[in-house]
Amino acid sequence: MRLTRYFLPVLKETPAEAQIVSHRLMLRAGMVRQASAGIYSWLPLGYKVLRRIEEIVHQEQQRAGAIPVLMPTIQSADLWRQSGRYDDYGPEMLRITDRHDRDMLYGPTNEEQITEIFQAYCSSYRDVPKNLYHIQWKFRDEVRPRFGVMRGREFLMKDAYSFDLDKASAIHSYNQMMVSYLRTFGRMGLKAVPMRAESGPIGGDYAHEFLILAETGETQVFVDSELLDLNFQDREIDYHDQAQIQAICDEWTGAYARTDDTHDQAVFEVEVPKERQVTARGIEVGHIFYFGTKYSEPLGAMIATPEGERVAVHSGSYGIGVSRLVGGIIEASHDDKGIIWPESVTPFDVGLVNLKQGDAETDAACEALYGQLKAAGLDVLYDDRDERAGAKFATMELIGLPWRVTIGPRGLQSGTAELTWRRTGETHEVSPEDAVSRLAETYRGL
Ligand code: ATP
Ligand code: MG
Repeated sequence: MRLTRYFLPVLKETPAEAQIVSHRLMLRAGMVRQASAGIYSWLPLGYKVLRRIEEIVHQEQQRAGAIPVLMPTIQSADLWRQSGRYDDYGPEMLRITDRHDRDMLYGPTNEEQITEIFQAYCSSYRDVPKNLYHIQWKFRDEVRPRFGVMRGREFLMKDAYSFDLDKASAIHSYNQMMVSYLRTFGRMGLKAVPMRAESGPIGGDYAHEFLILAETGETQVFVDSELLDLNFQDREIDYHDQAQIQAICDEWTGAYARTDDTHDQAVFEVEVPKERQVTARGIEVGHIFYFGTKYSEPLGAMIATPEGERVAVHSGSYGIGVSRLVGGIIEASHDDKGIIWPESVTPFDVGLVNLKQGDAETDAACEALYGQLKAAGLDVLYDDRDERAGAKFATMELIGLPWRVTIGPRGLQSGTAELTWRRTGETHEVSPEDAVSRLAETYRGL
């Protein structure tokens, strides 16, 4: 993509309304535009990141055995009356009346909708386990929408719903989601820790929140410092291997704790020596619940056991804040110049900077390299503006592309380009061919 033909409305000034760094940087980098309180349009750069995050979530959900569907944003109030939540949910729910005076609502979540689908088609132990998920916009009329996309009113969520014959099997489905979350957030370059949670308005008796650690987090947590080094990415996972899945969950849970609101002290699931307890702040990016038969009973999702008995199906729900993650990743990865995207979610793989636009030789070298980078399968943003070098570098640093290739008249004399790593500023003089092959290697398999 040539920058002169792209739509990248970067701002020079820091927007006054933005209180946290991710919100400031998303506005300055031209990623989103507020439409009304807590509601945003996704501009091209922001939309690219959102889609890449979505894609990782899709891949990891399906790797764990969940099946994609797409349910509507608008739901019927009657379904929510059956579960009893229409009145319980309160003012966060946006209630709508259609032209026939029927009560509708903009879905804040989909437990009722998915349970209705399940009960319509499934009636036997042979139909379970099943895990169905979608990535869909939600609306919650939050009292205080703030921090940009981190606490919006309209936001994109992945929500999965599992259906099992009994509690033991439902807990395995729950554990599968927990492990898939560890992989999902790990792929985005995040350290996300699962922490036992209150089950809240959805109810039930088994719940974990996934928090990424960042100074601006809304939740204060205690963490076992040893576990901050726990790594996950390189492991082979067999999602059918119940013992392995359980072992991973046991290793990761219990060693993180939140402050007990009433006593202001760390409550760990397992013994953690005082000197290893560190405090941190966390941003919630995911939430998993097991809630048993809370919805299957009122909505009549019954299945026959092998013995012919009809029982209510056991369920859980599993959310990921897809749009919140865009802000969350920036909170976890930026410096005073701007965003630093992990390669797995970056909007462009590499930025190409022409130091002397209009100079025939430099232009030709840039055009050639632009073509080669694209031919190698890389997504390139070519800054072909007639601008000073300093302004071009500042834009690349602000929008956070992990790699930059710079071509100028001086380097061309010795046949080299500069390859710069955004994270450290480390720069290497390399031939254009080397730049292409190094970048292709870096992005292989991402
Ligand atoms: P919170 O405590 O932050 O309000 P929640 O418990 O209401 O979250 P869930 O209902 O579990 O959230 O939703 C699943 C995920 O959706 C959350 O973990 C979070 O990442 C995301 N999410 C929830 N509310 C919002 C919001 N207003 N804006 C953006 N993302 C949200
Ligand atoms: Mg909430």
